[in-house]
Parts: sequence; structure tokens; C-alpha cells
Amino acid sequence: MRHRIAVVGSGPGGLTFARVLHRHGYPVAVLERDPAPDVRPPGGTLDLHEGLGQLALDKAGLLEEFQALSRPEGQAMRILDADGTVLRDWRPRPDDRANPEIDRGQLRDLLLGPLDVQWGRSVTQVVPGSQEGVVVRFADGRQETFDLVVGADGAWSRTRPAVSSVTPHYTGVTYVETSLDDVDTRHPDLARLIGDGSVAAYGVNRALVAQRNSGGHVKVYAQFRAPLDWHTNLDLADVEAVRSSLLALFDGWAAPVLDLLRHATAFVHRPLYVLPVSHTWTHVPGVTLLGDAAHLMPPLGAGANLAMLEGAELAESIATGPGDLDEAVHAFEEQMWARAGRWAKITTAGLERLVSPDPAEALALFDEVQPS
Ligand SMILES: Cc1cc2nc3c(=O)[nH]c(=O)nc-3n(C[C@H](O)[C@H](O)[C@H](O)COP(=O)(O)OP(=O)(O)OC[C@H]3O[C@@H](n4cnc5c(N)ncnc54)[C@H](O)[C@@H]3O)c2cc1C
Repeated sequence: MRHRIAVVGSGPGGLTFARVLHRHGYPVAVLERDPAPDVRPPGGTLDLHEGLGQLALDKAGLLEEFQALSRPEGQAMRILDADGTVLRDWRPRPDDRANPEIDRGQLRDLLLGPLDVQWGRSVTQVVPGSQEGVVVRFADGRQETFDLVVGADGAWSRTRPAVSSVTPHYTGVTYVETSLDDVDTRHPDLARLIGDGSVAAYGVNRALVAQRNSGGHVKVYAQFRAPLDWHTNLDLADVEAVRSSLLALFDGWAAPVLDLLRHATAFVHRPLYVLPVSHTWTHVPGVTLLGDAAHLMPPLGAGANLAMLEGAELAESIATGPGDLDEAVHAFEEQMWARAGRWAKITTAGLERLVSPDPAEALALFDEVQPS
């Protein structure tokens, strides 16, 4: 008999889980709060690592399609100091497929494929322990029962309270995100500065990072250490007020770098929250978590990769494993906790060095991780 399985959330983790189950002919209900796939901007570009996100896509049978869509040249990385001096200008070899970039929207559409996501289904609570199974309650007052509920519902997971009382805490680092469109035609100087991939300028406790997406779209992140209430006297909806505030924060930086902020048209406030490193919980039959819901960590290129691999591995062990459902989930959790714990330590230490009182730390980190 097939188990009744639901996954909450259609981010990279939830969709990979559902897609791998689908590949094995296994039914799954995908419950997503958003009313439709395109109701909000999908977010910036993602680099998918060979042994993580790409491995997950392989398990989903989607690696070739990913390779056709992805941008290996997007791995290029230029590092500047606050004066605009180029300190490093790293470009991948033409055959380098270690971490190619893909737009989030493209990845989502690739994973969605034949999946029948239930859009507009906002989960409010997951209650394990009843004889009929795990009860999922929805914002519209309805409820449904499943044998397994997988919480892939991100940082502010509504599934997580069913297994853990832990909530995310602020890292002390805030991002303000903005973007530029048609950069090659509208801002050719910035297009040259950014190159095929990313450019990052590091100063004292702050950084400006720009990443090329496809179609001439660029995401820009102003990153800085600040108390959570740094914007108390600022209207975050007032674009010009936010721009002035950021330009003051980066006062004295080279004009071409500041143009990334001067030409931006809207700003999104993203204080960085994390779960404790090595967050685990006492196994609860019928409910588990994966991705950011389980191990929210600083955004240093691992989160989506881990979420996808976890989704693929859990789905594979459910669909093809010999054991019972609960054993498969328990074994999955042990494996996830160990790997995510390692990455949480790496990314936490990385954030400390990238947005640091000593900008030389950011350069040293780049030299450690980037092959010369
Ligand atoms: C600026 C930035 C840059 C990043 N860059 C990278 C990168 O280059 N590489 C990388 O690997 N990672 C990166 N990350 C991290 C990555 O975005 C996350 O780790 C990843 O999206 C987590 O995937 P997920 O599927 O666990 O959750 P999410 O992507 O957060 O998806 C959760 C889904 O659940 C839905 N949902 C939420 N609540 C409910 C509810 N109550 N009911 C139903 N549905 C719900 C949401 O609408 C959403 O669709 C970055 C993060 C940021 C902020």
C-alpha cells in the first residue's frame, strides 16, 4: 500500500522531493501557500554544486536539462576593495561545471514539470500523534490527514513546531537587496564591472555584491552589520530614503561601485536569520523537516543545494528503500543533521569573515575556497 505523503512548500527542497517521488511513480501532495508560481519575484541566481544540487537533479533525471539552462560562465568572480581596485579577477575554465549558475525561476520551472502543486494552500499547523495519522490544518479552516508530512516550508516553517521549539535568531548582518534590468544596454559600465558572474567589494563591516542573472538582470546586495532596528527612523517603502541611507553607509566608496545603488529602482530589506548550528530534534513519527526549515544558515551558496539533495535522498529512500517509512525518515534525519551541521559551521564562519571589521578576511576566504 502506498503511504499518504505531503510536502509543505514548493521551494527547491520541496519540489525536488516531489519530483524524485514522481519519477518513481509515487504520489505526493505538494502544499504551497503562494496562490500561483509567479505571484512574487523568484529571487536571485543560485549556483548548484556538483556533489549537492547537481546530484539531486541527477536523481530527478533533470541533469541534462539543467546543463542546457545553466550558466557555467556565471561562476566568474571579481573582488574589489572599497576604492574600486580589482584585487582578484577569477574566471572559470570553459569546461568548468563545478558550480554553474541558474535563475531561481528557471530552476523552479524545471522542477515543476509535470508536478500538480496545490497552490494557495497555506498550512497553519501540523499535528502528529492521532490514530488516523498526521493532521495538517490550513488557513481556510480545512484539514487533511497524512502518513508523513515533510516540512520544506523555509525559514519560518509552520511544520517545525511539530518537532522542535527552536526559532531562528538574527545574525547581526542585514542585506538590502536591489536589482538592475537590461544592464548591458542601460548601464554598460556596470555590465563591464560585473562581468559574466559576480563582483564583490569589501569594506569594514560591510560589502556590496552584484550577481548577474540571465537576460541582463542583476541582483545587488548591500550587506552590513547593524542592530535589527537600524531602520527605526527610515521608511523602508521610500526608495529615495533607503538609497540615501545606503549611500551614507557606503560613503567614500568608489563611484563606479556606488552606481550599483544609484541606478537601483527598489529595495528589499533582508535581515539574515539562522537556526542554531547543529539543530536537531527528537524524532517524531510522521513528521520531518528539510532545507531551511531544518537548518537555516547564512546564504553562502549552500542552502538550496542542501535542500535539494535532502529532498532527493528522502524521496529515493521512501520510494526504493526496503525498510518501513518511519525507519527511512529516521535514517534520513541522521544523515541530514550530520551534513547540514558541517555546512552550518562553514557558512557561519564564512559570514563572520565576509562582513568583518577586517576586509582582508574576505579576500583570504576567497583565496581559500577558489581554485587559482
Ligand atoms: C540573498 C540570498 C542568496 C542565496 N544564494 C544561494 C545560493 O547561491 N546557493 C544556495 O544553495 N542557496 C542560496 N541561498 C539560500 C537558499 O535560498 C535557501 O536555502 C533555499 O531557498 C531553501 O530552500 P527550501 O526549499 O528549504 O525553502 P524555501 O526556498 O524558503 O521555500 C519554502 C517554500 O515554502 C512555502 N511556504 C512557506 N510557508 C508555508 C506554509 N505555511 N504553507 C505552505 N507553504 C509555505 C514558501 O512559499 C516557499 O515556496 C540564498 C539565500 C538568500 C537569502
